[in-house]
Amino acid sequence: MECFTMNDVRTIHDPDLIDFEKPGKSMYEVAFHYDGTWGNTLVPMTVINGTAGAGKSLVCFGGTHGNEYEGQVAVWRLMHELDPSEISGRVILIPRLNVPACDAGTRESPQDGVNMNRAFPGDLKGTLTYRISNFVTSKIFPLVDVVLDIHSAGSGPEFALCSSFHQIDDPQQYAEMKYVASLFDTPFIMVYSSEMASGLLTDEAEAMGKITIGSELGHSCGVLHQGLQHAYQGIKNVLHHYQILPGEIQKIDHNRETPPKLVAAIHLDEYIPAPISGVFEPILKVGNPVECGQLVGRVYDFERVGSRGLEIYAPRSGYLLLQTFQAPVKKGDTMLVIAQEVID
Ligand SMILES: [Zn+2]
Repeated sequence: MECFTMNDVRTIHDPDLIDFEKPGKSMYEVAFHYDGTWGNTLVPMTVINGTAGAGKSLVCFGGTHGNEYEGQVAVWRLMHELDPSEISGRVILIPRLNVPACDAGTRESPQDGVNMNRAFPGDLKGTLTYRISNFVTSKIFPLVDVVLDIHSAGSGPEFALCSSFHQIDDPQQYAEMKYVASLFDTPFIMVYSSEMASGLLTDEAEAMGKITIGSELGHSCGVLHQGLQHAYQGIKNVLHHYQILPGEIQKIDHNRETPPKLVAAIHLDEYIPAPISGVFEPILKVGNPVECGQLVGRVYDFERVGSRGLEIYAPRSGYLLLQTFQAPVKKGDTMLVIAQEVID
């Protein structure tokens, strides 16, 4: 069943009715039925089949986590700005993948409590979040060569601005992902851990052989001006690189002359947990280099009058890629990530 709504946006209840080959720009709201009540989550999606010629295919997601906004804004803008007459190939834009989480401004969906970025490859018979991720895995990934998933740090920590990809074994896929990650022109490119969890959107796309890039472009549930520039122009740079959209790759960060620094935090012991619950005092800014043994912060336990701040020392040298931003930290939460520069 399908029906038409305002502004030529088509509501789709059966994903098999989406004509992914239709020339030009098609806007959809893909309906996923709620688990416990009547009604649907409507996931916005734009499919552009360029009329300028054949070419590569790319999908870009924002709002995989609902409390991360730079990707939602950048992908939403491109959804309206990209002109199919200029496009060679196919561009699929999904600005708010986990709509219930985006509406609520939360990491997990309030509908089923599931983190979209741990729900892949999804399940056709699962709860709402699993059914959306199943749609992405079964209907979208097979159609594309390149997968971009735009994240920010959400609530809690601050990330140094970075694009990211997993450590993978295939040298050709690794080299291309490293180059495509550099097109976001962030201060850092982070090679991150595959040990942390399973079910990531990027895990699934990488396993299917896609050129897959993630990012961390803001924090604390804001829209960071600089982060949004990296998201918006970074996606356009990737489209330019693959000649899906004509134009030159543009420099984004005009305050930095050096290329993005490639750093890696691929083992879980590089993600340093808070040793106690309390209030975190940062000593350094994210992005700064640190020496092994350097004082990087203090945690205050205000419950224990007479206790000084617990001093936190860097267990290794590297770059401070993430640290707690919102003051309260809970014992066991990742408080710091110190990543090592990769020389190659
Ligand atoms: Zn995220």
